[in-house]
Amino acid sequence: MPDAPEKIVAGVMAAERIAAGLVAGGQIAGGVQQFPPPEDSDAALTSMPADAVVNVICEKIRSLCRERGIDVKDLAGIGIGFPGIVRDGVLEESPNLPQMKGCALGRAIRAGLDVEAMPVAIANDADVLAAGIAAINGHLDKLVRVWTLGRGIGFGTYPAIPGVWEGGHMVVSLDPKENYCGCGGVGHLEGIMGTRAMRKRFLDMEPDEVFATAKSGDQRCGDFVRMWHRALAAGTATSIHISGPGRFFIAGPNSRFIDVDLLSRYVYEMVKMSPLQGSVFEVTPVSDRTAIIGAAVNVAGG
Ligand SMILES: [Zn+2]
Repeated sequence: MPDAPEKIVAGVMAAERIAAGLVAGGQIAGGVQQFPPPEDSDAALTSMPADAVVNVICEKIRSLCRERGIDVKDLAGIGIGFPGIVRDGVLEESPNLPQMKGCALGRAIRAGLDVEAMPVAIANDADVLAAGIAAINGHLDKLVRVWTLGRGIGFGTYPAIPGVWEGGHMVVSLDPKENYCGCGGVGHLEGIMGTRAMRKRFLDMEPDEVFATAKSGDQRCGDFVRMWHRALAAGTATSIHISGPGRFFIAGPNSRFIDVDLLSRYVYEMVKMSPLQGSVFEVTPVSDRTAIIGAAVNVAGG
């Protein structure tokens, strides 16, 4: 037990799974709690009602505090990362967890834990990962951008910039047949790159098989893998034309499919103005630790 009172913040990532931990001085203090446990299916949240998701988050925070020997009321705050459009603690839209749409998550967590006055910061999951990557790599003074490639496509920045920032839904194709995005929009980046969209496009193959088959020279899969990279290059080129060049991190389960050389070549073809040259990509492993620390960074004083 620390001698002086220590500022402890709970950090929670609730995206495809829930991971929670306590953070003190920018480091995880104690263990990490997960739901479902790592050996279980990772899509558990998609089939849970909103109340149950809130209950799991509260229960994980209570259990972490118990483990640490502190009361929930002793926390300096709670930071939560969640996929979708988040405004003032309310989930305005969450295409990949539709049951959460409209949930006043901040208020529900405060009520569930009986901590009415506690700061609870809810942020977009990709912004939380950007904050975690910035904190862990010592980039808290720079603009950090991160693409998260999974079931959905996230685009996060640190520092978080006010706005909607649904970068995964950038339009990267004018082909009206490109309609695989979970949100229903036509021509979206996520409609090409997201796991769910890839499954809809290749009804007979899992994404792993598509990328493996492309390597063995198959035309259809090869064309798709090139389009998959070109789509991310297009999204990145748009960000470069709006916010300037820089370092783009790529994370998430499907970052394992990324060919950095191919992606860089496509971006080079798309961005030709000389002051906008020089962006770099870095595929980075992100762990629960990155997400938890990032969620805590977003709470004042965390
Ligand atoms: Zn979309």
